[in-house]
Amino acid sequence: MADGLTELAKRRGFFFGSNGAYGGTAGFYTFGPQGAALKRNVEDAWRDRFTIREGNREIEAPTIMPEAVFEASGHLEGFDDMLVECPECGESHRADHLVEAVTDIEDAEALPGEEVEGLIADNEIACPSCGTPLAGEPVEAFNLMFATDIGPGDAQPGYLRPETAQGIFVEFPRLKEYARGNLPFGITQIGPAYRNEISPRGGLLRLREFTQAELEQFIDPEEDEPPLELVRDVEVRLHPAAEQEADDGESLDTTVG
Ligand SMILES: [Zn+2]
Repeated sequence: MADGLTELAKRRGFFFGSNGAYGGTAGFYTFGPQGAALKRNVEDAWRDRFTIREGNREIEAPTIMPEAVFEASGHLEGFDDMLVECPECGESHRADHLVEAVTDIEDAEALPGEEVEGLIADNEIACPSCGTPLAGEPVEAFNLMFATDIGPGDAQPGYLRPETAQGIFVEFPRLKEYARGNLPFGITQIGPAYRNEISPRGGLLRLREFTQAELEQFIDPEEDEPPLELVRDVEVRLHPAAEQEADDGESLDTTVG
């Protein structure tokens, strides 16, 4: 169904894989005239709801930030995915996804690399692209951030932000001044984020460049009591993971509280 939808979206001018004239680049999509307009409407609706009506404030930070930011946030050390490379065709795959597809394991990413290597061998997992067995191939941690240089020569290393939150957190001291030092306050940001996904797929579901809309609410944990009673009785319809996987899965009507 996803393929059919992607085809339809392409024909009608909503979105299509980028750089087709040069062979295409996985994980990058261009929004056509219809899609760009629709995306703008979604962003405006989000802004209206979460920035304007909730009384938060919007900022727009740079998308490239220096290494120190990502050292502090832990992304340099731990923003990794498990990669296994096919010795025959050279294609890279998410090792944890390969294991999850043929075992009952739901979160293979949480396992140590050696254990995933063992599972690949035990389950005789082969390369999805060419069928070559992947047993014995190393499973490596691959950092998902796109690296770049800031300036020429002995340039400062920089990274394209993997999520919009960094720009909000880094500027907290100044943003707090704008709020006259009073907590709580909320900051929103809408903009691109970048992740060098190992094997992007699923159309717009797993992309290397995508738009995030984010709200960070800063509170004083000692003083501020979030007004949860305002939302306790709000009714929502959920479709939990277990129901999604069941053949006759149903939605669940419940309240937030
Ligand atoms: Zn292969």
